[in-house]
This record gives sequence, structure tokens and C-alpha cells, in this order.
Amino acid sequence: MLQFPGRLWRGVVDLVTPSLCLVCQGAVEDPASLCVDCWAKLKLIDEPVCDALGTPFAYDQGAGAFSPAALADPPVWDRARAAVLFSDDSARLVHALKYRDRPEAGLLMARLMAGAGRRLLAEADLLVPVPLHYFRLWQRRFNQSAFLATALAAAAGRPWRADLLRRRRLTRPQVGLDQAQRHRNVRGAFALRDDAAAVVAGRAVLIIDDVRTTGATAAACAEVLRQAGAARVDLLTFALVPPAGRSHI
Ligand SMILES: [Zn+2]
Repeated sequence: MLQFPGRLWRGVVDLVTPSLCLVCQGAVEDPASLCVDCWAKLKLIDEPVCDALGTPFAYDQGAGAFSPAALADPPVWDRARAAVLFSDDSARLVHALKYRDRPEAGLLMARLMAGAGRRLLAEADLLVPVPLHYFRLWQRRFNQSAFLATALAAAAGRPWRADLLRRRRLTRPQVGLDQAQRHRNVRGAFALRDDAAAVVAGRAVLIIDDVRTTGATAAACAEVLRQAGAARVDLLTFALVPPAGRSHI
């Protein structure tokens, strides 16, 4: 009897909006899910990973191990994790949230991020999404990173603040730029609100974003948070574009 209202509701929802796979638009049972084929194609990142870059290791090297890439060029942040390796399928999921008005894609992404970033979330004092410039916010109507941060904060019971970091200027899209160009493009693009230092100082801050390509955007954010005295700056993204040839060691 107790399940009946739920089934009834599901039936009504199905009549109005048939459940579609968030990646390929094929029919699925669960309204916020992927079909079996798309699940299988998603490249989930499992431990063991490099503690600094979140890139997968071919074999377990013990907790806190760094990859040669992290040792050669240590990131500005302390630890990074991502839920999946970037692929055509994970890109479609990101697009579903960003451009196709499918918030359920964001909830699924946040669920996968909560698993990959379990320890970072548990040790974070504050979640901070990468901000959009107000012009882009106006263009897109919402900030996908803020959406993910809200969902993760609720799931992990951690506080979040979307107003601490802000974009000082409109940067050109990073697509098509190489690593050096990306760093130049976002250098100095972020600032903290005047009263943010008191909130950030001495705290463990977790930056939330949807995709990490070279990490230039997250590094620019991490730098500002460090300057404000954050005790720890970690990074959790949904997808990670591994640097060519050094994703596995
Ligand atoms: Zn599918």
C-alpha cells in the first residue's frame, strides 16, 4: 500500500516526460539515470590515484603517493579527485546539465563525485564552486559548478559558499587553448570578496568544478584561496582530461 502513491506518481511522471538516458536519450527505467550501455562506457576513476592530481595509478603505491607528473610540476592545490575520465559520453552528461536543462544529470554527476571525493568532502570546512562571470551567468542562466557544490554540500553535510570567489573579468573560453595559453587566460581572473579572508583563513576549502582540463582555472582559484590563508585547498571535479601520455604510470 505504501508504495502505491510512488508508483502512481511515477506513472504520471512517465506520461508527462518519458525517462530518457541522460547521455544517449534512449529509454530508461529511472528518470535520473543512464542506460546500461552508457553506464558501461563511463570511465569511472577508481583508487589508487595520485594524491595531488587524482590521475589513476596502474597499481597501488600506498596512501598519499604522488605521480611523476605531480612531483615534476606540483599543483597549487593540495589534493585533487575526479569521478570520471573525460570522454564523449561524460561530455554529453556535462552538456545535459549545462545546456540542455537536465538538472538530474547534475544530481548523477554529484553522486559520482561524492564517491570519488569522499575523503576530501569529509575533511572540508567549506565547499566553493568555480564562479562564472556575471555575463556568462546571464547567458546560461545558471552556474553548473554551483549546482554541483549545492548537491554535494547537502549530501555530505558541509557548508558551501558561492559568493566568496568572483570573476574579475570575462575570460575567453579555454577551449582550443594550450596549457600555457590557458594559464595566461585565467591568471588574475579571480578574486575573493573583501570580507572572505575571515571565512577562508585557517580553513580547509574544497573547490568544485565540472571539468578539469589543464587545471588552469582551478589553479587560479586555489592561488587566491591560498593567499587568503586557507589551511588546505583541495579540488573535486566530475571529469578529468588526463594529460596525454601521463594518465597512467
Ligand atoms: Zn544511454
